Amino acid sequence: MSYQKDVENFMTAGEQPLKTELSLKGNQQTLYMNLITEEYKETLEAFENNDLIEVADGLADMVWVIMGMCSSCGIDFNKVWEEVRASNMSKFVDGKAIKNEAGKIMKPETYFKPNIKKVLGI
Ligand SMILES: [Mg+2]
Repeated sequence: MSYQKDVENFMTAGEQPLKTELSLKGNQQTLYMNLITEEYKETLEAFENNDLIEVADGLADMVWVIMGMCSSCGIDFNKVWEEVRASNMSKFVDGKAIKNEAGKIMKPETYFKPNIKKVLGI
């Protein structure tokens, strides 16, 4: 199962091209960026109205249009996610966060920043 693949099936059915070239420039990229903004606003409004059902719906819509944005920009989302996940998990040592005396979570020796450039192959 892949959220991006699901959205790509939708885009193909809707005659929206799936981009393989990494680029932010284009009408489809602008369209999906606007849709992300729209869905975020709807979700925020549902949150402010304490409407759990509409928040859940809004969150799924946001993931949907974010996947659409990725496929419009030539981004393989799973590769980026895996890099970000690995970076976040590198903050833990033996499954535990290292905290200073004030309780702040520190970045241990094992921590590494996500290398997005590398995973995008640029
Ligand atoms: Mg919506």
